[in-house]
Amino acid sequence: MQVPAPFQYQRATSVEHALTLLAQLGAGGADVRILAGGHSLLPMMKLRLAAPDHLIDIDDLAGELGYVIETRGGERGTSEIRIGAMTRHRELLESPLLARWAPIFTDAERVIADPIVRNRGTIGGALCQADPSEDLSAVCAAVGAQLVIRGAGGAGGSTSERIVDMDEFHRGPYRTCVAEDEMLIEIRIPAAPRTGSAYEKVDRRAGDWAVAAAGTSLSLDRDGVVEAVGIGLAAVGGGVSCPRAQASLVGGAPTEEAIDRAAAIAAEQETDPVTDQRGSAEYKRHVAGVLVTRALRRALARAEVAV
Ligand SMILES: Cc1cc2nc3c(=O)[nH]c(=O)nc-3n(C[C@H](O)[C@H](O)[C@H](O)COP(=O)(O)OP(=O)(O)OC[C@H]3O[C@@H](n4cnc5c(N)ncnc54)[C@H](O)[C@@H]3O)c2cc1C
Repeated sequence: MQVPAPFQYQRATSVEHALTLLAQLGAGGADVRILAGGHSLLPMMKLRLAAPDHLIDIDDLAGELGYVIETRGGERGTSEIRIGAMTRHRELLESPLLARWAPIFTDAERVIADPIVRNRGTIGGALCQADPSEDLSAVCAAVGAQLVIRGAGGAGGSTSERIVDMDEFHRGPYRTCVAEDEMLIEIRIPAAPRTGSAYEKVDRRAGDWAVAAAGTSLSLDRDGVVEAVGIGLAAVGGGVSCPRAQASLVGGAPTEEAIDRAAAIAAEQETDPVTDQRGSAEYKRHVAGVLVTRALRRALARAEVAV
């Protein structure tokens, strides 16, 4: 099937307008969807895996919600990087702020799709699609991202806002905690000192979805002890983060043995891969472990030279 089912189409002129349309059009139980870059939703509509009654196109919000900025005074007195939900893959790839503070984004964007997809696809669309093989969910889990979600349901017709982490946001394949009358607005990540991050992916050909992928972020204290660590996996089932593997590293020296142990915990206890055309479950689990090891080593090397 190459032709979507019939739908109504509206263009939002502001975030408030989009939220109002979501609330009004969805009030009678209609399926109303945000259209961002369209690189996941439109293929699903053409395959009739999705048949929304209404599309609210937010492409005109690229000015309002397309940014990567640094703000001072985040949690723990450090800086914070804020990424608008309409920021395109290409903008993430080319961001000097992310290259400096969270090079895991640069690593990941180099291996996401191709320039055509990267020119249109957005971080908000990628996270809200919650495809189990999607790379930016693993990236955001690894860096401890906070996600700002806004809805039209505030008192007196005002908007309401809540902030969640990736474990709460990501509810499983194609499911997030964003309600039907809400939008993802912004992604916030800590810009912590002595921190390094990295992304590793195995795919069958350039720009393809992952066979397995791993993202890591590692912060050291002044004595070189691991202060905080994040590990996110893509395409291998399980949760979006790896709490047991992370806990095994915190408070100790980041030795080769500790890294190998954490990778083994992640692969053996925190994945649940399926056998499909991309490989057997056993192969994917093995690859996940290897990629966690490589990503942790690279994150550590970056943390050791970070200010
Ligand atoms: C050929 C091809 C190869 C690809 N390869 C990869 C890859 O290797 N790795 C990878 O990670 N991705 C890959 N992708 C997916 C790509 O990254 C998409 O751009 C991304 O998944 C969706 O972003 P979008 O802006 O196009 O979202 P859309 O398709 O517009 O929307 C996706 C979903 O998110 C919802 N949504 C969008 N924005 C918001 C918002 N702000 N608030 C609430 N809901 C929202 C929509 O309603 C929809 O349900 C590929 C896509 C294609 C077509």
